Amino acid sequence: MLETDSFKAYSKVQKTADRLQRLVDLSMSLNSTLNLNDLLKIIIQTAADILDCEAASILLYDEKSGELFFAAATGEDAKKLAEIPVPINNSIAGTIFRTHEPITLHQLENEPRHNKKASEHVGFQTRSLLGVPLRIRERTIGVLESLNKKVGTFSEADQETLKVVASHAAVAIHNAQLIQALKQAYEDVSKADKLKSNFLALASHELRTPLGIIIGYATFLREDSDGETSGHADQVLNAALQMRTLLEDMNNLTMLEEDASSIMPRKLLLQDLLAKAAEEIRELAQVKEQEIIFNFSEEKIESLVDGKKLSAAIVNLLHNAVRFSPEKEKIVLGLRCENEQILCWVKDHGIGIPKDQLESIFDKFYQVEAPNIRRYGGMGLGLTIAQGLIEAQGGKLWAESEGEGQGSTFKISLPLKQMPSPSDLQ
Ligand code: ADP
Repeated sequence: MLETDSFKAYSKVQKTADRLQRLVDLSMSLNSTLNLNDLLKIIIQTAADILDCEAASILLYDEKSGELFFAAATGEDAKKLAEIPVPINNSIAGTIFRTHEPITLHQLENEPRHNKKASEHVGFQTRSLLGVPLRIRERTIGVLESLNKKVGTFSEADQETLKVVASHAAVAIHNAQLIQALKQAYEDVSKADKLKSNFLALASHELRTPLGIIIGYATFLREDSDGETSGHADQVLNAALQMRTLLEDMNNLTMLEEDASSIMPRKLLLQDLLAKAAEEIRELAQVKEQEIIFNFSEEKIESLVDGKKLSAAIVNLLHNAVRFSPEKEKIVLGLRCENEQILCWVKDHGIGIPKDQLESIFDKFYQVEAPNIRRYGGMGLGLTIAQGLIEAQGGKLWAESEGEGQGSTFKISLPLKQMPSPSDLQ
């Protein structure tokens, strides 16, 4: 008799130790993933095993519908269960959710709150049930249920164990839900950002055609007229050219947002590329009677570059040189090769840049000029874009100036590439 008692006491201790071990294992498993579905599976599996039950399920509260829904359930019919909403009133899970108290039912046959529809839907007969609320701080987020105790009936100890499982589970579920919401918000923002970029690209593209017509006719008008009319035509042309640059900034901004895979390197003769870029800015320079002078090395420099992006960066630098230099000044566009690096520069004799702002001018929307003066206009995007376009190709862009009134030089260095690197081929 004594031996039987001590055996019973031993197996009880053993059972408790087993349960504690399972709870430790559970908290470790819950820490191993932030994927909500994986977490839910771990929880129901543990809840069913630890209480020696046929099944377990998790119902979560849906704030939009104000009802509970099956987020996970043992067995293959979990998906079917997910289709069945569980009302907060007049259901067992709903009562646990509302009262924040556990419920143990040894017999469900005559239980009016039992959701027979759900059982019929998945062909699972629920005989007994133990359910506890999933609580995080003062808030109940759902219900954890264990169904059909295999041997005997649900005990007080079972309830306490399931409460511990539920408290670990609630924290893990809550964290995973927050991460899911964060991911969703990030996706929404990315989508909106993409829409904005597409709109900018489309708008800037569509506005270019009518603007081209204005620039064309303003040029004719200036040439065919004299005196006051010619001055007016000059102003129209100047304003239209400025507008074209703003549109180019908008368009280039979208180019900057493209990822690294959008780099399209091609072997190009850089003297040609730079001369074409200068051509784009010649009209603007002519309005201010400025001259763009080439200082290119005599030996031909050929390299793998993304011509579109490099050209856009140089056009930006030349345009700034025109804007920030007085009339009739010279602007130098230089190119040479040095230690396997291409060095390209735009030097002007304009207003210069205070030394302490040589780096900040590359920040988005940064302008040296105070916003209330605004003699030069612009959006403070040109240099950010130019730097982004150069860095995307593994190069550098920086500014040098001896200070205000001393002119500025913007320099680009790019690796001289004759053969595509593995990343270029991806
Ligand atoms: P924005 O279109 O507003 O000029 P940028 O990004 O092209 O924007 O230039 C940022 C600021 O850097 C300019 O507003 C100006 O203060 C300064 N900057 C750029 N290029 C020159 C230059 N060549 N000479 C003097 N200042 C310059």
